[in-house]
Order: sequence, then structure tokens, then C-alpha cells
Amino acid sequence: MSLKNYQYDVIIHQLDMRRLNAKYMLDKRTEEIYNKCPEILDIDNQIAIQSAERARRAIMGDDTALQGLAEANRALAREKETILVKNGYPADYLSPRYECSLCKDTGYVNGERCSCFNKAISNLIYSESNVREIIREENFDNFNYELYSDEADHFDVSTGTMRSPRELVRDVVKLAHDFIDNFDTEYHNLLIYGNTGVGKTFLSNCIAKEMLDRSHSVLYYTAFRFFKYMENCKFSYDAAEGSGTLGEDYLLDCDLLILDDIGTELSNSFTNSALYTVINERHLKRRPTIISTNLSLAELEKRYSERIFSRLSKEYSLLKIVGSDIRRK
Ligand SMILES: [Zn+2]
Repeated sequence: MSLKNYQYDVIIHQLDMRRLNAKYMLDKRTEEIYNKCPEILDIDNQIAIQSAERARRAIMGDDTALQGLAEANRALAREKETILVKNGYPADYLSPRYECSLCKDTGYVNGERCSCFNKAISNLIYSESNVREIIREENFDNFNYELYSDEADHFDVSTGTMRSPRELVRDVVKLAHDFIDNFDTEYHNLLIYGNTGVGKTFLSNCIAKEMLDRSHSVLYYTAFRFFKYMENCKFSYDAAEGSGTLGEDYLLDCDLLILDDIGTELSNSFTNSALYTVINERHLKRRPTIISTNLSLAELEKRYSERIFSRLSKEYSLLKIVGSDIRRK
């Protein structure tokens, strides 16, 4: 997984805030204890004076100045703990409380990313994906083949035989798994097509969850939201040229982009240009895209510009789902 610069900054900032918070809470507890147990304040003063005095001697060239200092401080720390417990506080009441005790909220242990850092990346990419909630339900664990008829009433061009929607959808799911398993080593795009309600969105969400679980950044847009986004963002469209440009954008950079229900938008030269720009720029960066649509290939060809259709038919693996509308089942 490639972490984008701004994502890295977000996580580092989160860690900074956690450490600041731990420090703030510790200061509050310390103040409370100094009021209730002044003898602990005396000990802390003693530690400060002792350390300063020894440091002064060390700077003056006394090689023995720091000998036994750690031991002396440990003894005083133990004394503090005894006083805390005697007053009804936990012994570690004056220790900082980090959210992650492994890395003390620095994000690193021995120069390696801590598990909490990786967890934060995963949380961040989940929250950015637009599918965080829906994939709790829509994932491969809940994929129900029973919803597809097992009547062999579809002619399958690839095998030249009559096959059932259930058999065919098993093939599609297998291809989806291949896509996921080879994601790190092979560049592929998917075009998932078929009639309304055959489970195209469900399948894209299944793939999204697998990719997110493997810490890949995923961005999901319905066609409606995608074109709305393109209208509002810094996408600049040249009406005369019928082409557009998009600056540095997560849309182009995320590991996997899913555009759902393409073909439901009101098609015009702007939407054509926006769609081509994203498909093309992601292709040039070799960043995989999944597109789902109710349109047949012939309808796609009729609806979109030749350059879009050419990209789709040459650079995308075609996954056709057949069957009746399963949303009613
Ligand atoms: Zn940690």
C-alpha cells in the first residue's frame, strides 16, 4: 500500500495530539497530587535539585557525577509510589497514560511502524472510501448464490454451452477474487455490467472491502456523486476542446477507484470529458478502476465517445452478471 503524503501528515498529527493529550492529563493529575500529598512535591523537588547538581558537576569534569543517579531516582520513584498507594491512588497514577503503550504514541518501535500506526492508516482509508458503513453488510461473507437461478437458460459464449445464472456468477466471483489476489503484482481494470438489480453494486462493495482489509486505499462513487464531484472540484473543462484536466487529486491517486452505475448520469460533453480524463489518467498511472453499469457494450459504445469506449473495451476485463432482479428476493 502506498500512503499518500497528506495521509501520512494526518496520522502524524493524530499521534502528536495523543501525546499532547497524555501530557496534559498527566499535568492535571500531578497538580492534584501536589495539593493532596505535598510530600510528593518535596520528592520531585529533591529529584530536580539532585539531577541539576549532578549535571553541573558532570559539566565541570567530574566523571563520577552521574554514577548512581539513576538508582537514586528509582528509589525516590518507589517512595512516591508508596505514598500514592497509601493515599488510595494507583501506584502508576503519575505515569503518562498513552493510548498505545508499545510506542508511547510515537507511532514507531525500534524504527519500525507500530501496529497502532498501521491501524490508523486502515481507519483513515476506510473513512475516506465512502463505503465504510455499507460493507459491513455487503461483503463476500454475505454473498448469496441462492439468489441466482440454477436453470441453464443462458447461452455462454466462452464455453458455447447453456449455463445457469448461478454458474455464471460463480465465474464472475472467481474473476473478482483473481483481481484482488493479483492486485499487487498485476494491473487490471474491471467493467461489471448486467441488468438492474443483478448484484453489480454488491459485488463492487465486496471487492472494496477485501481491498480495504488489505490496507489499500479505495474510493467509491456512484455516477451521480462522481459527476457532482467533478463539477465542484478543480476539474477544468475546455468546452471547445471537449477535454479536461484534473490536478493532483485523490481520485487519480487512490489504489482503487470504483465508479458505480455509470450510464445513469445525464450524458453531455462535460460528463464525457470528465469520465475520459479520470479513466485515462488512472490508466496512464496504472491505477486500477472498477466501473459498473446497466448498459450493454453496444449501449456503452453508442452513449460514450469513441475514446472512452476504446479504453473500456481494450483495458477492462468484462464481467457480465446475468439473472433477474435479486433485490426483490
Ligand atoms: Zn503504537
